[in-house]
Amino acid sequence: MDMLKERILKEASIMTEDVLKLDGLLNHQVDPVLTMEMGREFARRFAEVHITKVITVESSGIPVAFATALTLGVPLVFARRKKTLIADPDALTERVPSFTKGIVTDIMVSRQYLTPSDKVLFIDDIIANGDAARGLIKIIERAGSELAGLGIVVEKSFQAGGRTIREQGIRVESLVKIASLEGGKITFEQ
Ligand code: 5GP
Repeated sequence: MDMLKERILKEASIMTEDVLKLDGLLNHQVDPVLTMEMGREFARRFAEVHITKVITVESSGIPVAFATALTLGVPLVFARRKKTLIADPDALTERVPSFTKGIVTDIMVSRQYLTPSDKVLFIDDIIANGDAARGLIKIIERAGSELAGLGIVVEKSFQAGGRTIREQGIRVESLVKIASLEGGKITFEQ
């Protein structure tokens, strides 16, 4: 997606050789026009699949997942990062390490919103090692729902997440792939 590549080159900053700051586009500020374009692109790529729900993890995945769900005309469910110690018998929970925060968090989806009749499209902002995605995939499996695939805004393809999930036989569609952040330069995969 050329429009997205241009915005990344203009607005992203390299924090370390494996972390890109995308606050201006994804993680702090949201451009509604660009976000709707991204949502339409995911909807177009998965148009032949009968999606019943879009799912993401709070919080940065929500705007683009919303744009995708709006275009597909289906509900959006977001996994919540659990902060309570009160056990909820209706919740599906997975513990995932956080790439940027260096902590583990529990993500949770209520069984009420994910059922065996659902075919879900999982949308997220960035994939690095794939831990967040694997956690949500386990929740989708435990709910008995069918996973149509993943739509990722930025795949850092020099990290293993996208590749290992594709190796599991899951379709992963990324709008841009970043091959390297070495030498203070953002290099896209061709
Ligand atoms: P993973 O679980 O795939 O290792 O990391 C996924 C999550 O970590 C993303 O949803 C994103 O919030 C955060 N993350 C991973 N890499 C980066 C990065 O380079 N920049 C930013 N801003 N967030 C990242």
